[in-house]
Amino acid sequence: MNEKKQLISRRTVLASAGAVAAATLADGHASPGHAAAEMLGPSNPTHFRFKLGEFEVTTILDGAIQVPTVNKIFGQDQKAEDVAALMGANHLPGDKMEIGFTPVVVNTGKEVVLFDSGNGAARRPKAGNLLVALKQAGYSPEEIDAVVITHFHPDHIGGLMEDGKPAFPNARYVAGETEFNFWTAADQAEGRVGKLANTNVKPLAPKMTFVKPEQEASPGITAIDAFGHTPGHMGYHIESGKNRLILMADACNHYVASMQRPDWHVKFDMDKAAAAAARKKLLDMAAADKIPVAGYHMPFPAVGFVERRDIGYRWTPVSYQFNL
Ligand SMILES: [Zn+2]
Repeated sequence: MNEKKQLISRRTVLASAGAVAAATLADGHASPGHAAAEMLGPSNPTHFRFKLGEFEVTTILDGAIQVPTVNKIFGQDQKAEDVAALMGANHLPGDKMEIGFTPVVVNTGKEVVLFDSGNGAARRPKAGNLLVALKQAGYSPEEIDAVVITHFHPDHIGGLMEDGKPAFPNARYVAGETEFNFWTAADQAEGRVGKLANTNVKPLAPKMTFVKPEQEASPGITAIDAFGHTPGHMGYHIESGKNRLILMADACNHYVASMQRPDWHVKFDMDKAAAAAARKKLLDMAAADKIPVAGYHMPFPAVGFVERRDIGYRWTPVSYQFNL
């Protein structure tokens, strides 16, 4: 039997099964145990935990938003149809996308370190849910010993304050000095990011340590220069025993567009060329040594592996690698 005939006969079988079921119902003898249940809507996990040497790493979903464009953000310098074609080739729509936000908790055994704080109240209910998801993952805000801020965009610093008070009351803070100085300077005071940096980050300065690339935020956690997305944007290299993880923050922000076409311009990259260079540097590091990567805007659980492919890279989401 050829493929088409097989398909037709399968459809015919399904249709007659449906007809039998309908007849039974019409007869008043509905089969027991088939009461219609309420539709519950989409549901997604909000935390993912794995062991990295002696460390325990948990990625935590702050939320996600859907936006009605791709090429106005990714591939701004490309033709819309070329961006749509790349999305289509990867089973994604060409005219809309989802952007997720995934802070990371690393328990080093000595400190519980949170990387970035999510969107906070400004994006609720879609995002800004870090505190809820953190609790579901087994941590209270009081247990966070250190908050490392990769850069000062609102989706990373929005959750530092809750009702005007620090959301993580016992935490010390680590931030890049270049980033802090840039966004808290007088010439940024009227901008959206500058305003938020002044309300959410500046008041925490007395409890803040500044780091430069190659310096440690906590033992085993070292800053990586990834300037470009913002003037002081940094990733982190996390190492315990023989195990390593690159936390690339916003160096690469779409698992197809920015991986497969790393040179394409991205709206949110303040210095497009420097951001592309940083993106390729971090992805090359990960690909060369097969180091797993956590990416703030990668699809949840926002952990995966990178390999060189054609003119860019390919993202393979994590599956069971860490359970073995
Ligand atoms: Zn971001």
